Amino acid sequence: LDATGENFTPEEFDIERALRPLSFDDFAGQDQVLENLQIFVKAANLRDEALDHTLFHGPPGLGKTTLAHILANELNAGIKVTSGPVLDKPGDLAGLLTNLDERDVLFIDEIHRLSPVIEEYLYSAMEDFKIDIMIESGPNARSVQINLNPFTLVGATTRSGLLTAPMRARFGISSRLQYYTTELLSDILQRSAHILKVPMTMEAAIEIAGRSRGTPRIANALLRRVRDFAQIKGNGKIDIEISRYSLKALNVDANGLDEMDNKILTTIIEKFKGGPVGITTLSTAVSESAETIEEVYEPFLIQQGFIVRTPRGREVTEAAYRHLGKTKHNSQGG
Ligand code: ADP
Repeated sequence: LDATGENFTPEEFDIERALRPLSFDDFAGQDQVLENLQIFVKAANLRDEALDHTLFHGPPGLGKTTLAHILANELNAGIKVTSGPVLDKPGDLAGLLTNLDERDVLFIDEIHRLSPVIEEYLYSAMEDFKIDIMIESGPNARSVQINLNPFTLVGATTRSGLLTAPMRARFGISSRLQYYTTELLSDILQRSAHILKVPMTMEAAIEIAGRSRGTPRIANALLRRVRDFAQIKGNGKIDIEISRYSLKALNVDANGLDEMDNKILTTIIEKFKGGPVGITTLSTAVSESAETIEEVYEPFLIQQGFIVRTPRGREVTEAAYRHLGKTKHNSQGG
Protein backbone atom coordinates (compact mmCIF):
# COMPACT_ATOMS: atom_id res chain seq x y z
CA LEU A 1 0.00 0.00 0.00
CA ASP A 2 2.92 2.38 -0.24
CA ALA A 3 2.80 5.54 -2.32
CA THR A 4 5.14 4.32 -5.03
CA GLY A 5 2.68 1.57 -6.02
CA GLU A 6 5.60 -0.76 -6.59
CA ASN A 7 4.68 -3.39 -4.04
CA PHE A 8 1.49 -4.74 -5.57
CA THR A 9 0.89 -8.43 -6.20
CA PRO A 10 -0.12 -9.60 -9.71
CA GLU A 11 -3.63 -10.32 -8.41
CA GLU A 12 -3.92 -6.74 -7.24
CA PHE A 13 -2.82 -5.48 -10.64
CA ASP A 14 -5.62 -7.53 -12.23
CA ILE A 15 -8.26 -5.96 -10.02
CA GLU A 16 -6.71 -2.58 -10.63
CA ARG A 17 -7.17 -3.11 -14.33
CA ALA A 18 -10.84 -4.03 -13.82
CA LEU A 19 -11.36 -0.77 -11.95
CA ARG A 20 -9.69 1.35 -14.61
CA PRO A 21 -12.01 3.83 -16.33
CA LEU A 22 -12.24 3.29 -20.10
CA SER A 23 -13.68 6.57 -21.33
CA PHE A 24 -13.49 10.28 -20.58
CA ASP A 25 -16.91 9.98 -18.93
CA ASP A 26 -15.71 7.42 -16.39
CA PHE A 27 -12.65 9.41 -15.44
CA ALA A 28 -13.13 11.56 -12.35
CA GLY A 29 -11.36 14.84 -11.76
CA GLN A 30 -8.40 16.51 -13.50
CA ASP A 31 -11.03 18.72 -15.13
CA GLN A 32 -8.76 21.11 -16.99
CA VAL A 33 -6.57 18.32 -18.33
CA LEU A 34 -9.61 16.35 -19.42
CA GLU A 35 -11.36 19.28 -21.05
CA ASN A 36 -8.31 20.04 -23.15
CA LEU A 37 -7.74 16.42 -24.10
CA GLN A 38 -11.34 16.05 -25.21
CA ILE A 39 -10.92 19.00 -27.57
CA PHE A 40 -7.63 17.74 -28.98
CA VAL A 41 -9.08 14.25 -29.51
CA LYS A 42 -12.20 15.62 -31.21
CA ALA A 43 -10.10 17.76 -33.52
CA ALA A 44 -7.76 14.90 -34.37
CA ASN A 45 -10.76 12.64 -35.04
CA LEU A 46 -12.38 15.26 -37.28
CA ARG A 47 -9.22 15.68 -39.31
CA ASP A 48 -8.59 11.97 -39.29
CA GLU A 49 -5.09 12.64 -38.01
CA ALA A 50 -3.04 11.09 -35.26
CA LEU A 51 -3.27 12.99 -31.98
CA ASP A 52 -0.19 15.04 -31.15
CA HIS A 53 2.37 13.31 -28.91
CA THR A 54 1.22 13.63 -25.32
CA LEU A 55 3.14 13.68 -22.05
CA PHE A 56 1.57 13.03 -18.64
CA HIS A 57 3.54 13.83 -15.54
CA GLY A 58 2.84 13.64 -11.83
CA PRO A 59 3.14 11.31 -8.83
CA PRO A 60 2.33 7.58 -9.18
CA GLY A 61 -1.25 6.33 -9.14
CA LEU A 62 -2.98 9.51 -10.34
CA GLY A 63 -4.17 8.15 -13.69
CA LYS A 64 -1.42 8.56 -16.30
CA THR A 65 -1.68 4.98 -17.61
CA THR A 66 -5.46 5.16 -17.41
CA LEU A 67 -5.50 8.30 -19.54
CA ALA A 68 -3.25 6.70 -22.15
CA HIS A 69 -5.76 3.86 -22.54
CA ILE A 70 -8.67 6.29 -22.59
CA LEU A 71 -6.98 8.30 -25.34
CA ALA A 72 -6.61 5.18 -27.48
CA ASN A 73 -10.28 4.27 -26.88
CA GLU A 74 -11.51 7.75 -27.67
CA LEU A 75 -9.36 7.83 -30.82
CA ASN A 76 -10.78 4.45 -31.81
CA ALA A 77 -7.23 3.29 -32.09
CA GLY A 78 -5.10 0.49 -30.75
CA ILE A 79 -2.51 0.82 -28.01
CA LYS A 80 0.87 -0.77 -27.44
CA VAL A 81 2.35 -0.52 -23.98
CA THR A 82 5.98 -0.51 -22.94
CA SER A 83 8.22 1.29 -20.49
CA GLY A 84 11.52 3.14 -20.44
CA PRO A 85 13.57 0.53 -18.58
CA VAL A 86 12.17 -2.39 -20.63
CA LEU A 87 12.88 -0.80 -23.97
CA ASP A 88 16.61 -1.20 -24.23
CA LYS A 89 17.30 -2.54 -27.73
CA PRO A 90 16.74 -0.40 -30.82
CA GLY A 91 15.47 -3.56 -32.53
CA ASP A 92 12.66 -3.90 -29.96
CA LEU A 93 11.64 -0.31 -30.50
CA ALA A 94 11.73 -0.74 -34.29
CA GLY A 95 9.52 -3.81 -33.92
CA LEU A 96 6.97 -1.91 -31.87
CA LEU A 97 6.96 1.12 -34.14
CA THR A 98 6.64 -0.78 -37.40
CA ASN A 99 3.68 -2.70 -35.99
CA LEU A 100 1.65 0.39 -35.18
CA ASP A 101 -1.42 0.99 -37.29
CA GLU A 102 -2.35 4.47 -38.37
CA ARG A 103 -3.33 6.66 -35.36
CA ASP A 104 -2.38 3.98 -32.80
CA VAL A 105 -1.07 4.97 -29.40
CA LEU A 106 2.36 3.87 -28.23
CA PHE A 107 2.42 4.24 -24.45
CA ILE A 108 5.83 4.49 -22.82
CA ASP A 109 5.68 4.49 -19.03
CA GLU A 110 8.66 5.89 -17.10
CA ILE A 111 9.79 7.63 -20.24
CA HIS A 112 12.52 9.44 -18.32
CA ARG A 113 14.32 6.10 -18.07
CA LEU A 114 14.89 5.55 -21.79
CA SER A 115 18.47 4.96 -22.82
CA PRO A 116 20.05 7.74 -24.92
CA VAL A 117 20.28 5.40 -27.95
CA ILE A 118 16.57 4.63 -27.84
CA GLU A 119 15.75 8.28 -27.32
CA GLU A 120 17.73 9.17 -30.41
CA TYR A 121 15.69 6.67 -32.42
CA LEU A 122 12.45 8.02 -31.08
CA TYR A 123 13.21 11.57 -32.17
CA SER A 124 12.89 10.89 -35.89
CA ALA A 125 10.02 8.47 -35.30
CA MET A 126 8.12 11.18 -33.43
CA GLU A 127 9.00 14.00 -35.77
CA ASP A 128 8.91 12.51 -39.25
CA PHE A 129 7.35 9.08 -38.65
CA LYS A 130 10.53 7.53 -40.00
CA ILE A 131 13.25 5.39 -38.49
CA ASP A 132 16.68 4.41 -39.72
CA ILE A 133 17.64 0.89 -38.87
CA MET A 134 21.00 -0.74 -39.38
CA ILE A 135 20.98 -3.98 -41.30
CA GLU A 136 23.83 -6.46 -41.52
CA SER A 137 27.12 -5.76 -39.83
CA GLY A 138 30.79 -5.26 -40.56
CA PRO A 139 31.64 -3.96 -44.04
CA ASN A 140 28.11 -4.63 -45.35
CA ALA A 141 26.42 -2.63 -42.61
CA ARG A 142 24.11 0.01 -43.94
CA SER A 143 21.14 1.87 -42.68
CA VAL A 144 17.71 1.62 -44.23
CA GLN A 145 14.96 4.11 -43.72
CA ILE A 146 11.53 2.79 -42.84
CA ASN A 147 8.33 4.81 -43.02
CA LEU A 148 5.97 4.47 -40.09
CA ASN A 149 2.24 5.00 -39.83
CA PRO A 150 1.42 8.28 -38.13
CA PHE A 151 1.02 7.42 -34.45
CA THR A 152 0.72 9.10 -31.07
CA LEU A 153 3.40 8.62 -28.49
CA VAL A 154 1.97 8.93 -25.00
CA GLY A 155 4.68 9.23 -22.38
CA ALA A 156 4.23 9.06 -18.62
CA THR A 157 6.73 10.15 -16.03
CA THR A 158 6.88 10.80 -12.31
CA ARG A 159 10.05 12.80 -12.89
CA SER A 160 9.47 15.39 -15.56
CA GLY A 161 12.64 17.10 -14.37
CA LEU A 162 14.69 14.16 -15.60
CA LEU A 163 13.33 14.30 -19.14
CA THR A 164 15.85 15.64 -21.66
CA ALA A 165 15.02 18.96 -23.30
CA PRO A 166 14.87 17.55 -26.86
CA MET A 167 12.48 14.83 -25.68
CA ARG A 168 10.27 17.28 -23.85
CA ALA A 169 10.18 19.54 -26.92
CA ARG A 170 8.71 16.76 -29.05
CA PHE A 171 5.49 16.55 -27.07
CA GLY A 172 2.79 18.84 -28.45
CA ILE A 173 0.61 18.20 -25.40
CA SER A 174 1.89 18.10 -21.86
CA SER A 175 -0.30 17.72 -18.79
CA ARG A 176 0.47 17.59 -15.12
CA LEU A 177 -1.88 15.49 -13.00
CA GLN A 178 -2.83 16.74 -9.53
CA TYR A 179 -3.68 14.96 -6.29
CA TYR A 180 -7.42 14.29 -5.91
CA THR A 181 -9.72 15.80 -3.33
CA THR A 182 -11.45 13.58 -0.77
CA GLU A 183 -14.74 14.23 -2.54
CA LEU A 184 -13.44 13.02 -5.91
CA LEU A 185 -11.80 10.00 -4.32
CA SER A 186 -15.03 9.07 -2.63
CA ASP A 187 -16.78 9.21 -6.03
CA ILE A 188 -14.08 6.95 -7.44
CA LEU A 189 -14.52 4.58 -4.48
CA GLN A 190 -18.29 4.41 -5.01
CA ARG A 191 -17.71 3.47 -8.63
CA SER A 192 -15.14 0.83 -7.67
CA ALA A 193 -17.38 -0.62 -4.95
CA HIS A 194 -20.13 -0.89 -7.53
CA ILE A 195 -17.82 -2.78 -9.92
CA LEU A 196 -16.63 -5.05 -7.10
CA LYS A 197 -20.27 -5.53 -6.08
CA VAL A 198 -19.67 -4.63 -2.46
CA PRO A 199 -22.19 -2.43 -0.63
CA MET A 200 -20.62 0.66 0.92
CA THR A 201 -22.08 3.62 2.77
CA MET A 202 -21.31 7.19 1.74
CA GLU A 203 -19.78 7.84 5.15
CA ALA A 204 -17.41 4.90 4.70
CA ALA A 205 -16.42 6.09 1.23
CA ILE A 206 -15.51 9.50 2.61
CA GLU A 207 -13.56 7.96 5.49
CA ILE A 208 -11.48 5.77 3.15
CA ALA A 209 -11.09 8.59 0.61
CA GLY A 210 -9.70 10.94 3.25
CA ARG A 211 -6.95 8.48 4.04
CA SER A 212 -5.90 7.69 0.49
CA ARG A 213 -3.10 10.19 0.08
CA GLY A 214 -4.98 12.00 -2.70
CA THR A 215 -4.34 8.98 -4.92
CA PRO A 216 -6.95 6.81 -6.72
CA ARG A 217 -4.64 3.79 -6.79
CA ILE A 218 -4.27 3.90 -3.02
CA ALA A 219 -8.02 4.50 -2.55
CA ASN A 220 -8.82 1.40 -4.59
CA ALA A 221 -6.18 -0.65 -2.78
CA LEU A 222 -7.60 0.36 0.62
CA LEU A 223 -11.09 -0.47 -0.59
CA ARG A 224 -10.03 -4.00 -1.43
CA ARG A 225 -8.48 -4.49 1.99
CA VAL A 226 -11.50 -3.01 3.80
CA ARG A 227 -13.69 -5.33 1.74
CA ASP A 228 -11.70 -8.26 3.15
CA PHE A 229 -12.26 -7.05 6.70
CA ALA A 230 -15.97 -6.49 6.02
CA GLN A 231 -16.30 -10.02 4.73
CA ILE A 232 -14.39 -11.74 7.53
CA LYS A 233 -14.94 -9.50 10.54
CA GLY A 234 -18.26 -7.87 9.60
CA ASN A 235 -21.39 -8.59 7.62
CA GLY A 236 -19.94 -7.99 4.16
CA LYS A 237 -21.10 -4.41 4.03
CA ILE A 238 -18.59 -1.57 4.18
CA ASP A 239 -19.80 0.90 6.77
CA ILE A 240 -18.00 3.47 8.86
CA GLU A 241 -17.25 1.10 11.77
CA ILE A 242 -15.63 -1.61 9.70
CA SER A 243 -13.76 1.06 7.70
CA ARG A 244 -12.26 2.63 10.84
CA TYR A 245 -11.46 -0.79 12.24
CA SER A 246 -9.71 -1.90 9.02
CA LEU A 247 -7.79 1.34 8.51
CA LYS A 248 -6.52 1.09 12.06
CA ALA A 249 -5.47 -2.52 11.50
CA LEU A 250 -3.74 -1.45 8.28
CA ASN A 251 -1.80 1.30 10.10
CA VAL A 252 -3.13 3.98 7.81
CA ASP A 253 -3.10 7.18 9.81
CA ALA A 254 -5.85 9.78 9.99
CA ASN A 255 -4.31 11.91 7.27
CA GLY A 256 -3.55 8.98 5.01
CA LEU A 257 0.19 9.40 5.39
CA ASP A 258 2.10 6.20 4.87
CA GLU A 259 5.15 4.89 6.69
CA MET A 260 7.68 6.78 4.57
CA ASP A 261 5.71 10.03 4.82
CA ASN A 262 5.78 9.74 8.59
CA LYS A 263 9.41 8.66 8.62
CA ILE A 264 10.36 11.77 6.66
CA LEU A 265 8.47 14.06 9.06
CA THR A 266 9.76 12.31 12.18
CA THR A 267 13.33 12.35 10.90
CA ILE A 268 13.26 16.07 10.12
CA ILE A 269 11.87 16.74 13.58
CA GLU A 270 14.04 14.38 15.60
CA LYS A 271 17.34 14.51 13.76
CA PHE A 272 17.28 17.98 12.25
CA LYS A 273 15.29 19.99 14.80
CA GLY A 274 12.49 20.52 12.33
CA GLY A 275 14.79 21.64 9.53
CA PRO A 276 15.81 23.16 7.29
CA VAL A 277 17.57 20.10 5.98
CA GLY A 278 18.99 19.52 2.49
CA ILE A 279 17.46 16.83 0.30
CA THR A 280 20.66 14.75 0.10
CA THR A 281 21.09 14.68 3.86
CA LEU A 282 17.45 13.80 4.33
CA SER A 283 17.69 11.07 1.72
CA THR A 284 20.55 9.41 3.58
CA ALA A 285 18.76 9.72 6.90
CA VAL A 286 15.57 8.00 5.74
CA SER A 287 17.27 5.56 3.30
CA GLU A 288 15.22 6.57 0.29
CA SER A 289 16.54 8.09 -2.94
CA ALA A 290 16.45 11.87 -3.20
CA GLU A 291 14.51 11.56 -6.48
CA THR A 292 11.76 9.43 -4.93
CA ILE A 293 11.47 11.80 -2.01
CA GLU A 294 11.20 14.75 -4.37
CA GLU A 295 8.82 13.16 -6.84
CA VAL A 296 6.64 10.88 -4.72
CA TYR A 297 6.60 11.86 -1.07
CA GLU A 298 7.39 15.53 -0.85
CA PRO A 299 4.69 16.84 -3.25
CA PHE A 300 1.95 15.34 -1.07
CA LEU A 301 3.51 16.49 2.19
CA ILE A 302 3.81 20.00 0.77
CA GLN A 303 0.27 19.93 -0.60
CA GLN A 304 -1.02 18.86 2.81
CA GLY A 305 0.93 21.61 4.53
CA PHE A 306 3.30 19.38 6.52
CA ILE A 307 6.50 20.52 4.84
CA VAL A 308 7.69 23.74 3.25
CA ARG A 309 10.57 24.22 0.89
CA THR A 310 12.91 27.04 1.83
CA PRO A 311 16.10 28.18 0.12
CA ARG A 312 18.03 26.35 2.85
CA GLY A 313 16.14 23.08 2.56
CA ARG A 314 13.00 21.37 3.82
CA GLU A 315 11.29 22.42 7.01
CA VAL A 316 8.37 20.81 8.78
CA THR A 317 5.40 22.99 9.77
CA GLU A 318 3.41 23.27 12.99
CA ALA A 319 0.87 20.94 11.40
CA ALA A 320 3.51 18.21 11.19
CA TYR A 321 4.31 18.52 14.91
CA ARG A 322 0.58 18.36 15.69
CA HIS A 323 0.08 15.39 13.39
CA LEU A 324 2.82 13.43 15.15
CA GLY A 325 1.72 14.57 18.60
CA LYS A 326 5.02 16.33 19.19
CA THR A 327 5.82 19.83 20.30
CA LYS A 328 8.73 21.90 19.06
CA HIS A 329 10.07 22.13 22.59
CA ASN A 330 10.28 18.46 23.60
CA SER A 331 11.56 17.23 20.23
CA GLN A 332 14.51 19.61 20.46
CA GLY A 333 15.16 18.72 24.03
CA GLY A 334 18.21 16.50 23.36
P1 ADP B 1 -0.37 6.10 -12.97
O1 ADP B 1 -0.16 5.58 -14.36
O2 ADP B 1 -0.42 7.59 -12.91
O3 ADP B 1 0.59 5.53 -11.97
P2 ADP B 1 -2.86 4.63 -13.15
O4 ADP B 1 -3.42 5.21 -14.39
O5 ADP B 1 -2.23 3.28 -13.25
O6 ADP B 1 -1.82 5.65 -12.48
O7 ADP B 1 -4.03 4.64 -12.06
C1 ADP B 1 -4.05 3.72 -10.98
C2 ADP B 1 -5.46 3.23 -10.75
O8 ADP B 1 -6.23 4.28 -10.20
C3 ADP B 1 -6.19 2.80 -12.02
O9 ADP B 1 -6.21 1.42 -12.16
C4 ADP B 1 -7.60 3.30 -11.84
O10 ADP B 1 -8.41 2.27 -11.37
C5 ADP B 1 -7.51 4.34 -10.79
N1 ADP B 1 -7.71 5.69 -11.31
C6 ADP B 1 -6.76 6.60 -11.62
N2 ADP B 1 -7.30 7.77 -11.96
C7 ADP B 1 -8.63 7.61 -11.89
C8 ADP B 1 -9.74 8.50 -12.11
N3 ADP B 1 -9.56 9.77 -12.46
N4 ADP B 1 -10.98 8.00 -11.95
C9 ADP B 1 -11.16 6.73 -11.54
N5 ADP B 1 -10.16 5.86 -11.30
C10 ADP B 1 -8.90 6.29 -11.46
